[in-house]
Amino acid sequence: MLVKAYGAYAADKPLESLEIRRRATGAHDVQIDIAYCGICHSDLHQVRSEWEGTQYPCVPGHEIVGRVAAVGDHVQGFKPGDLVGVGCIVDSCKHCAECADGFENYCDGMVGTYNGATADEPGWTLGGYTQKIVVHERYVLRVSHPAEQLAAVAPLLCAGITTYSPLRHWNAGPGKKVGVVGIGGLGHMGIKLAHAMGAHVVAFTTSESKRDAARELGADDVVVSRNPDEMAAHLQSFDFILDTVAAPHDLDAFLALLKRDGAMTLVGAPATPHPSPNVFNFIMKRRSLAGSMIGGIPETQEMLDFCARHGIVADIEMVRADEINAAYERMLKGDVKYRFVIDNATLAG
Ligand SMILES: [Zn+2]
Ligand SMILES: [Zn+2]
Repeated sequence: MLVKAYGAYAADKPLESLEIRRRATGAHDVQIDIAYCGICHSDLHQVRSEWEGTQYPCVPGHEIVGRVAAVGDHVQGFKPGDLVGVGCIVDSCKHCAECADGFENYCDGMVGTYNGATADEPGWTLGGYTQKIVVHERYVLRVSHPAEQLAAVAPLLCAGITTYSPLRHWNAGPGKKVGVVGIGGLGHMGIKLAHAMGAHVVAFTTSESKRDAARELGADDVVVSRNPDEMAAHLQSFDFILDTVAAPHDLDAFLALLKRDGAMTLVGAPATPHPSPNVFNFIMKRRSLAGSMIGGIPETQEMLDFCARHGIVADIEMVRADEINAAYERMLKGDVKYRFVIDNATLAG
């Protein structure tokens, strides 16, 4: 079936209205009418081919929410009308150790929601800036938030799980002091989630102007990381630090804030490497530096259920399809609180 979409024909072209074809709904497929799609920084990197290998036309979008329109004969977990979400993964090998453990995000055969290999036309996956998507039931998530919150649920599918997964893995919770570096699309979710998990949350920002906003998101304390005195007051005190900043920066300044056995996880993907951290910062207090990439399907469902129970959604600004290019420019300037979400009803023109 042909549906309207928004995408780009080349790296140096703006996104524009186009039509794409979706496959027929197979026995294990769920066909979804997309209501909203979040705009993630990855969308911009991919559509502008700043990471290698973008194929065109490129239709980005992996923070997808909507309602089930139809299901295949063998689908039992979903029915038409259900509120559902699709995140960064639409397929994987389904039989490796990672898939068996529910970590499809670490499967070597993981297929991204856009620009991933597929037998579907045109040969690569096309994302959520469109009216419909057809996805194998394994990669479809159940949304139990109230329907009127649906647009603000969309960013949970990437920004939410990307921060939830490392917070859970490193046991953020009551009695733990957790830092969140960067207060953007990812960081604002990290603060909300760590707060809801019961941790003592300290937000790190380079801008004095974000102090109040960070507290409103749930931070117990806010540190302006450019202020050495403020940083020094937190030396050797953190159990865990979640670093969401994609720009290259000094990791040592944050490693020094970890207490013995503390860990810092990086979730931002810098275009050029961070300066190498000082090995002594690891040796001296048995500290760890780790990374994390989105999350598996079972933990994404767990995250959505956790957010529904705790009333957590993203802070969003809704845009029309014809405002996507302008939204990209504003995102590059950090001019968004904290996530743009596309109203996919506006794709129809
Ligand atoms: Zn994303
Ligand atoms: Zn696999």
